[in-house]
Amino acid sequence: MLIVMKADATEGQVKDVVRVIEGLGYKAHPMPGASRTAIGITGNQTAVDASHFENLAGVAEAVRVSKPYKLVTLDLRAEKTIVRVGDAEIGGEELAIIAGPCAVESRNQAFAVAEAVRRSGARFFRGGAFKPRTSPYAFQGLGEEGLKILAEIRDAYGLKIVTEALDESGVDLVERYGDVIQIGARSMQNFTLLRRVGKSRLPVLLKRGLSATLDEWLLAAEYIMSEGNYQVVLCERGIRTFAQHTRNTLDLAAIPAVRRISHLPVLVDPSHGTGKNYMVTPLARAGVAVGADGLIVEVHDQPDQALSDGAQALTLEQYEQLVSEVRAIHEVIAPAAVT
Ligand code: PEP
Ligand code: MN
Repeated sequence: MLIVMKADATEGQVKDVVRVIEGLGYKAHPMPGASRTAIGITGNQTAVDASHFENLAGVAEAVRVSKPYKLVTLDLRAEKTIVRVGDAEIGGEELAIIAGPCAVESRNQAFAVAEAVRRSGARFFRGGAFKPRTSPYAFQGLGEEGLKILAEIRDAYGLKIVTEALDESGVDLVERYGDVIQIGARSMQNFTLLRRVGKSRLPVLLKRGLSATLDEWLLAAEYIMSEGNYQVVLCERGIRTFAQHTRNTLDLAAIPAVRRISHLPVLVDPSHGTGKNYMVTPLARAGVAVGADGLIVEVHDQPDQALSDGAQALTLEQYEQLVSEVRAIHEVIAPAAVT
């Protein structure tokens, strides 16, 4: 159930409704919007009785939610969510660009890429310290040492750090050194991990699972939000199909499809979405053109030496060119993307 407050409802009236929800043993999720506040209710095993709320001061209506998700939807919040990361944001007017290597491999490598990322005007730096590799013998990341390098990059360049956590102890560490917790495609349905990041004070970048439907992906976001963390950014990174000309099939239709259902910002990852260097820029352009709030892109100072995902890494020059192109596209379509 969803409680829609009147436009002129006071803060005190919202608090009173929250108290009634909690008194029934449920969890309340107040979402202030531009024109009114709505309060989502979770934690109920059976239908919530609307009569508890209908006569409370400030309540406009109690709406039964028929969809499987309650908190990610436009019903709860009609305006787009802007996820704020310090003085940077994702989902606002500016195109968010998150760039960096697949993995932090060394201080020199990470700084060489970060310097170019800073120069491009991007606000976010990516780099994995914990890598989810298909083979246990492949490079697994530098762990905490990698996170320390990322923290140095934040201090040196003012870039916000986006980095993956594979498990709960990894979340503790990312909370210490990073700014945004990435949940990778392979972890999208690790429900204990989702609940853990739902309790974090840091925003979460939630990648779409390798073969996840839209509903499964949005329900994964719902896990995070149901724990009280509403700072969730979705990321389309390609799905498994029969196609063999790409590593994954980048599902660009997912962007408008998500928009129609959810207020959460959504990014495109043309790097994992294609797996091939020469396809990254064309698909990045397309991602921005379909209205993504930003991109997450892999860049390496020496792609042929990369310890992971070298085939899809852009050179520093290619990356700089990509940024200027996607900014131009965003300028053209921005007014439409905001609606
Ligand atoms: C990554 O961003 O390097 C990564 C492992 O991505 P994904 O989870 O989308 O495969
Ligand atoms: Mn990668």
